[in-house]
Amino acid sequence: MHHFNYKEKDLYCEEVQVAEIADAVGTPFYLYSHATLLQHFKAFTDAFQDIRHLICFSMKSNSNLSVLKLFAQEGGGVDIVSGGELFRALRAGVDPQKIVYSGVGKKVEDLEYALRSDILMFNVESSQEILALNGVAERMKKKATIAIRINPDIDPLTHPYVSTGLKENKFGIDIKRSFEEYTMAAELPYLRVSGISCHIGSQLTQLSPFVDALKKLKEHIKRLEGAGIGIDFLDLGGGLGITYDREEPPHPKEYASAIKKELDMRDLTLILEPGRVIVGNAGILVAKVLYTKASPEKRFIIVDAAMNDLMRPSLYGSFHGIEPVRMRDRESVKADIVGPICESSDFLAKDRDLDAFEPGELMAVMSSGAYGFSMSSNYNSRPRVAEVMVKGAQYFTIRARETYEDMIQGEVIPDFLSQ
Ligand SMILES: *Cc1c(COP(=O)(O)O)cnc(C)c1O
Repeated sequence: MHHFNYKEKDLYCEEVQVAEIADAVGTPFYLYSHATLLQHFKAFTDAFQDIRHLICFSMKSNSNLSVLKLFAQEGGGVDIVSGGELFRALRAGVDPQKIVYSGVGKKVEDLEYALRSDILMFNVESSQEILALNGVAERMKKKATIAIRINPDIDPLTHPYVSTGLKENKFGIDIKRSFEEYTMAAELPYLRVSGISCHIGSQLTQLSPFVDALKKLKEHIKRLEGAGIGIDFLDLGGGLGITYDREEPPHPKEYASAIKKELDMRDLTLILEPGRVIVGNAGILVAKVLYTKASPEKRFIIVDAAMNDLMRPSLYGSFHGIEPVRMRDRESVKADIVGPICESSDFLAKDRDLDAFEPGELMAVMSSGAYGFSMSSNYNSRPRVAEVMVKGAQYFTIRARETYEDMIQGEVIPDFLSQ
């Protein structure tokens, strides 16, 4: 469910006409529905309400301060993957005791920053990281709480670029070797071994990989307990998929009930790190058609948004629905939607049956709330676009469009070039 619907022929976000926002803020821009964000967050947390759990929103999917603040107000935490994300989370008022820190390459400065900030848990991914964190904690005279991220070697049955829990992936510690890592970590004086974590991939549309991963983690927990290592937190990661095109992913309720049925360990706190499933269908990218052109072989619709604004189609060949902001009765054509960037991989849609859009028209690139703005860049010296949130009949710019001056901030021409 989302709140992007047509009234008569005009696309609305909740009660605001999308074209009206485009007139005011210009194009391209990301547009998020407050009601959808809230509804998705609540659906997820409600599905687990009968067990001890913590939702740590995976903020790499959408790291806008207002989005984070909204979830923080609902009692949510975050899963971070960098010092920069920690900075954003704290700025948005996320409770540090609801922050978990994942990632294979945490820098020493970032470990220090996170320990100083009293985050809940470090999800460590290698024995060298375990030793580095112990060293940092010793210097700071603090104890760091850790979970070891296990690579359970499970095929998530999704796109290879977003699969993370296979033994050839860089993530986590091989499940066969992790017992030794646990016993090593448990002897280090500045670490408190408290959790076990995994994250097997993204855009999963089936439940069995989650259940299989959970089974493996449970076996591991029993073995650890046998060795006197108690586990308080089981972090199952994120990864639940959404409908971009015709996928039929399980509802968060079905996901939750499959997990709860398998979990059956009442004294644990379950941590979940959903990203895409919360924000993906709560946002769209609005673009304007600049030109159209056709050769005998091919027709192109050239828009003002590009791969630097929404990277997923270029990066993964992902599908995003394309809808007109104002419906018209007209023929449909087969076309590519492309941006102004000087790369052949700069497309938003390929060989798609589409309305015969005309120059000056607005279009909505659907399902762009996750890994949209957060993956955007300044490539081709294109300022990053504005982000807008609608709540009911009002809209708010939650990130201003960058200016050219913003874009060159920090660049310095050294003296030897200035003469
Ligand atoms: C990216 C990521 C997530 C979120 O994945 P989604 O597919 O967006 O739910 C969760 N945990 C970790 C460790 C991640 O890297």
